[in-house]
Amino acid sequence: MDTVALAAPAFVILINEFWRFSMLCPKCHNEFEQIVFGDIEIDRCTTCKGLWFDMLEKEDLLSIEGSEEIDLGPEQVDPKYAAMRDIECPRCAQTMLAMVDKDQYHIKFEACPACYGTFFDAGEFRDLKEHTVLERFNQMVHTISSKFE
Ligand SMILES: [Zn+2]
Ligand SMILES: [Zn+2]
Repeated sequence: MDTVALAAPAFVILINEFWRFSMLCPKCHNEFEQIVFGDIEIDRCTTCKGLWFDMLEKEDLLSIEGSEEIDLGPEQVDPKYAAMRDIECPRCAQTMLAMVDKDQYHIKFEACPACYGTFFDAGEFRDLKEHTVLERFNQMVHTISSKFE
């Protein structure tokens, strides 16, 4: 009986669960709540409404229609949180890097250089999503019009 092989996946799940339960918002240090969209689980801060994405979750979500609903927007949130920089990754405690979106320079977010997780302030994911949809639409229009040339 290979108990090591059996135990390993359970161990990984346990670590994952431990991470989720122990994770606090890097900005306001309150708890995250897990929300599920499609079959992707995202962490959203209960207080500043910031969104935490593990590696590639953001890309997966951007491709799903309606996913901007997970972002509650900045209206109800103290703007001081969006202005905060130099935060630590809630997963691995590395200092996160301030990033700007390559297409939309006004969207600033934090990325972890170790686990590649990203943190978006309330409203920023919505912003990013709108742009992504618009860009796809423009590409589509371009493709269609080029067929008639
Ligand atoms: Zn928070
Ligand atoms: Zn990290």
